[in-house]
Amino acid sequence: MFLKNRFPASEQKERRDNLYSRLRGDIVTMRKQGNFPEKDPSTFSKYYCDLCNDSFPLNEIKQCTLCGRWACSSCWTQDFYVCNSCNGVIKLHTMTFKNPVPEEKED
Ligand SMILES: [Zn+2]
Ligand SMILES: [Zn+2]
Repeated sequence: MFLKNRFPASEQKERRDNLYSRLRGDIVTMRKQGNFPEKDPSTFSKYYCDLCNDSFPLNEIKQCTLCGRWACSSCWTQDFYVCNSCNGVIKLHTMTFKNPVPEEKED
């Protein structure tokens, strides 16, 4: 007997861990966790966003938990606590991960 649509919590966690390990295989680590961002040599207290290459005060940029890039608020996806670049990869994976669903029509 198969209960296709019911997964125990442990199995759901496993699926999520799977997604993470798949993501990690796809995402190139640009920087080690805890490494500082690139300093803007023209200012004393600003650092480069690794995605748009603008410089920001350290408290305005965050390090991506997946690739280690530093990202400013506009290059950042708060939902997953990752940079926009990794968010694109996550979206790809979560789309292929889900059962195929008919596309909703939007007008
Ligand atoms: Zn940026
Ligand atoms: Zn990232």
